[in-house]
Amino acid sequence: MNIPRLAVVIPCFNEELCIERTVRQIFELFEHLIRLNKIKRDSYIYLVDDGSKDRTWSIIERLHYENRLVKGQRFVTNFGNQKALLAGLEAVRRIGCDCAVSIDADLQQDEYAVEKFLDKYMEGYDIVCGIRNDRKTDSLFKKTTALMFYRTMNLLGVKIPKNHSDYRLVSRKGLEVLELYNESYLFLRGFFNEIGLKTAYVNFDVKPRFAGKSKFNFYSLMALALNGITSYSVVPLRFVTVLGFLMAFFGFLVGLETVFEKIFLNNSPNGWATQVILLCVFGGIQLFCVGIIGEYVGQIFQEVKRRPRYITDTELK
Ligand code: UDP
Ligand code: MG
Repeated sequence: MNIPRLAVVIPCFNEELCIERTVRQIFELFEHLIRLNKIKRDSYIYLVDDGSKDRTWSIIERLHYENRLVKGQRFVTNFGNQKALLAGLEAVRRIGCDCAVSIDADLQQDEYAVEKFLDKYMEGYDIVCGIRNDRKTDSLFKKTTALMFYRTMNLLGVKIPKNHSDYRLVSRKGLEVLELYNESYLFLRGFFNEIGLKTAYVNFDVKPRFAGKSKFNFYSLMALALNGITSYSVVPLRFVTVLGFLMAFFGFLVGLETVFEKIFLNNSPNGWATQVILLCVFGGIQLFCVGIIGEYVGQIFQEVKRRPRYITDTELK
């Protein structure tokens, strides 16, 4: 296999404190990899400004005019990290590259793991997923929710790699497959796991964020998790069906028992408390189930409109 032209895709949302240093560090990585003959000299960085409100875009513009190996685009507004990643991967496929690596703007992921990613790529792997060694840098909240998410996904039969965030290498073939999928809300971790290309895993160390704060909040993490579940599993819907069936059966038994007591034992039950409890429990279960179905209806609603996945304001190539 020839030495690849590498594109590094970085989603950025209000990252004015990080970008410059991150770009410098990625260029240092490039120098290292070029010396080792692992990537071509025209390898480049592609930054996607996900509708930042700070100076992120003006910094990207300046970096681009200083060095054309910094490219990028700016969204008109904030579309979320998955859309920014997607836009970056689509753009580098258009511009041209042999493989692309996506990494966060805060460089929490050890960028030198890319060397190992490239070794796997040269061995013929199309996807190389970075797996974090530990979650020491995460808050307790993030640790618990992440664990819950992976447990749920596993339970639902979706085998996404554990502790893999979107730090991965994708070959050109992988990028071409990505173009065939035009879901509005593509859950990239699920997607790259599902398409069946040859996949390798590489462990890496996580560092604390060197500047700024996490750009995810409770709501956006929840949205990401729910999208992951509803995009890749219909098990919750089946669960509703089975639960409904069990409840109907239970109701039938209770009915039989009531009739039996009335006719044969002649003591009409005076279970006020029982009624209230049953009403609340069943009401709760029903609402919960309607909620699950609602999540899927919502997903369908978003998809059928076929709205553009993101809107680009400016592109620098
Ligand atoms: N990000 C984005 N759009 C968003 C939220 C985040 O492009 O709406 C980017 C962010 O700039 C960063 C990456 O996604 O490059 C990961 O975000 P962050 O480091 O804040 O997440 P965490 O490390 O806390 O999971
Ligand atoms: Mg981070």
